[in-house]
Amino acid sequence: MTRLIDINMISAMVEKIGLDIFLQQMTENISRNYRQWMKFEKSARLASHSKVGVIELMPISDDQLYGFKYVNGHPANTAKGLSTVMAFGALAEVETGYPLLLSELTLTTAFRTAATSIMAARVLARKNSRVMAIIGNGAQSEFQATAFHLLLGINEIHIFDIDKTAMDKFQQNLSSYKTLKVIQFSNTAEAVKGVDIITTITADKTLATILTTDMIEPGMYINGLGGDCPGKTEIHANVLKQAKIFVEYEVQTRIEGDIQQLDKKHPVIELWQVLSGQQPGRDNDSQVIIFDSVGFALEDFSALQYLYELSNKLGIGKNIELIPQMDNPKDLYGLLTKTELTTDSSKAA
Ligand code: NAD
Repeated sequence: MTRLIDINMISAMVEKIGLDIFLQQMTENISRNYRQWMKFEKSARLASHSKVGVIELMPISDDQLYGFKYVNGHPANTAKGLSTVMAFGALAEVETGYPLLLSELTLTTAFRTAATSIMAARVLARKNSRVMAIIGNGAQSEFQATAFHLLLGINEIHIFDIDKTAMDKFQQNLSSYKTLKVIQFSNTAEAVKGVDIITTITADKTLATILTTDMIEPGMYINGLGGDCPGKTEIHANVLKQAKIFVEYEVQTRIEGDIQQLDKKHPVIELWQVLSGQQPGRDNDSQVIIFDSVGFALEDFSALQYLYELSNKLGIGKNIELIPQMDNPKDLYGLLTKTELTTDSSKAA
């Protein structure tokens, strides 16, 4: 049987164990797999672009499990009542190819992106970081805010979005956190002034320049998430040039990340190297650091692995007959004769 996890089941799991523990455990799972980078068979994701968006497949495997995510990115979707990012994914046994899990990944993408941001910020942001700006207050933004508040000690968040209703929604959604101060700003330059960390999480299918050099102060850590497709960026090339840059998987980020604007030889460091102690992260407290995140298959694989274990442990989820179970595996046709098929001609009779 294949385990099915839908949106309601994810919500039930989070409610059962608590959002802070859920985020912490997901971060630990992603970090553990990043530290074992070499055991994974990796590739850049397969993207199908259109004028308005992109649809991507993100596969990865180790010697035990194979996973993939289907995900889109359509910035104009919200005007049609649909999410910009929608996703689902599967986990299968390498030995047999049997699909163990079919899961929603829209909500989970927001969790895993926040968890990945925490994993990176723990090794790259200044240790005493307390104030963060979030530019772009759409679907992903509160997940980032919650994770940084609960797991990294951020207690003040400056927000800016070109859509005022998105800022109001953000502030309302986080109003229950009494130890978190949220302040709205009327532009990016004011929002980022004096902060320790800047998270950019906007959606616009264009070469945008949300962050320019005049906004950058010594020691800032930039968690850049929305520049994740060819022709879709957020950070001005001159900001990139003045910073030390970290990426998830260089092959993929050269195509999709903000660094698509730079020379192919411009130095970047893959995050796994820092997490496994092979490369230093931040060299000093005045260094400007950018995590040019695009989202990598290993994060979804880790999330699927974690959800599968949690679903079995908590007894939340459903087993479905996605793959036929047969006494004689060669008799696939027998499935048709066992089921009472109603054909058009039998209806007529
Ligand atoms: P969303 O459409 O729900 O929200 C995006 C927000 O950005 C909107 O509220 C919009 O008004 C705002 N915005 C657009 N241009 C802006 C500008 N110039 N200044 C300020 N705000 C602006 O989208 P979402 O689901 O929150 O995703 C946001 C982005 O993050 C997308 O580009 C998506 O592709 C990317 N993303 C990256 C990762 C990753 O792993 N790196 C994961 C998920 C999503």
